[in-house]
Amino acid sequence: MSNLILQSTIFLENKSRITQISYHSGMTCCPFHHDKHPSLKLNEEYFFCFSCGATGDVIGIVARMFDLSGYEATQALTADFGISTEPG
Ligand SMILES: [Zn+2]
Repeated sequence: MSNLILQSTIFLENKSRITQISYHSGMTCCPFHHDKHPSLKLNEEYFFCFSCGATGDVIGIVARMFDLSGYEATQALTADFGISTEPG
């Protein structure tokens, strides 16, 4: 997961939900189950929890963390990053 994503409003507002990110291993505590030791693998392509099996892409993790639909998560990300959804 890039620094750009970690600096995003949606993550800063909920910083406590993603803790103990190890940039060496890409492992962090999973926000989707009661995780005492980092079980969640994060990279720029996907996330995967070795404990509870949660998996998906950046839209999926935002949707699950903030209880949004995929469409709502996409809207939140495009707003946070100032990404245009207009073609071209
Ligand atoms: Zn998990």
